[in-house]
Amino acid sequence: MKSKTKVVVIGGGAVGVSMLYHLAKKGWSDVVLVERKELTSGSTWHAAGLLPLFNMSYSVGQLHKYAVNFYKTLEKETGKNVGFSVVSNIRLASTKDRMDEYHQYAGVAQTIGVDYKFLTPDQVKEIWPLCNTSDLIGAIQHPEDGYIQPADLTQALATGARNRGAEIYRNTTVVGIKQTKSGWVVETDKGSIECEHVVSCTGNFARQTGKMVGLEIPVIPVEHQYIVTEPHPKSLYTVTALHPVSQANQYASFTSCTVAVLGKLMVLDTELVTCFCQTDCIFTCASAETFMAVLYTAESKPC
Ligand SMILES: Cc1cc2nc3c(=O)[nH]c(=O)nc-3n(C[C@H](O)[C@H](O)[C@H](O)COP(=O)(O)OP(=O)(O)OC[C@H]3O[C@@H](n4cnc5c(N)ncnc54)[C@H](O)[C@@H]3O)c2cc1C
Repeated sequence: MKSKTKVVVIGGGAVGVSMLYHLAKKGWSDVVLVERKELTSGSTWHAAGLLPLFNMSYSVGQLHKYAVNFYKTLEKETGKNVGFSVVSNIRLASTKDRMDEYHQYAGVAQTIGVDYKFLTPDQVKEIWPLCNTSDLIGAIQHPEDGYIQPADLTQALATGARNRGAEIYRNTTVVGIKQTKSGWVVETDKGSIECEHVVSCTGNFARQTGKMVGLEIPVIPVEHQYIVTEPHPKSLYTVTALHPVSQANQYASFTSCTVAVLGKLMVLDTELVTCFCQTDCIFTCASAETFMAVLYTAESKPC
């Protein structure tokens, strides 16, 4: 393990590894990532990987568009398939109020440049024959939505980062972060690493890591319940019929407004900064990290 480096990223989920990748891609190859267990052992392992392009913010919409284009290039670059499938997304409306909400979505989608279509119940049935459309008013479809395999994505990002000189230390826990005159010392259970910048991407542990530098990070782990399914053996349709095989709970951390917390945080009255990233989804992580990497590499001297 290095004892001195430019940046220490804490947390080996989709967010941390994406941060590492983007820093290395921007030219900072002397960067390391420290993960307490294995890569993806946090929320990233449990994520369904849905990539809904649509959201109600122009800025986040642009970030999502970057992610879609970027994920498409990763396999070519790293040789690792990230399981990106564009299968579209249909939201059903059985009340007029719901349909009104979708019309509002459509207005924003048009501004962001996200494709959408309104569907009649018959058109929904055509696309998804198993759907019970008897009480449907209609639906909105985002043809470019899809899903990715979050663990595969993280491994591809890790390969891309390592190829550019970044190092990843697994089974290594950060136990303290201390500020020095020239930067930071990140203390781990395997030794200390001096660095200029610390980026914390610790998901459900963000509050704990924040406390190490006296910060109160405004995120809270929220329980997600999910059902694991497999194709129904008796399905006669070309679309997959699913039946549940198990059910599980897992936490994912959220802010009160459910969007990403990220940025440089001034610590006390010094000019040293650290950064805490808390993104709300697999989608935001690629673009949020690009943003952070640009911020760092632009404001500090290029290496
Ligand atoms: C059931 C479920 C379904 C989801 N579905 C979707 C979906 O469909 N689409 C979507 O976009 N998002 C989805 N999400 C959200 C998504 O999983 C998360 O937003 C994303 O994985 C967060 O990544 P992360 O890297 O911030 O956190 P994590 O993946 O939790 O990674 C944080 C890492 O930090 C490490 N760590 C913590 N403390 C320390 C320390 N002191 N030292 C070293 N390492 C440390 C942890 O071990 C962990 O590996 C879902 C989440 C859940 C739980």
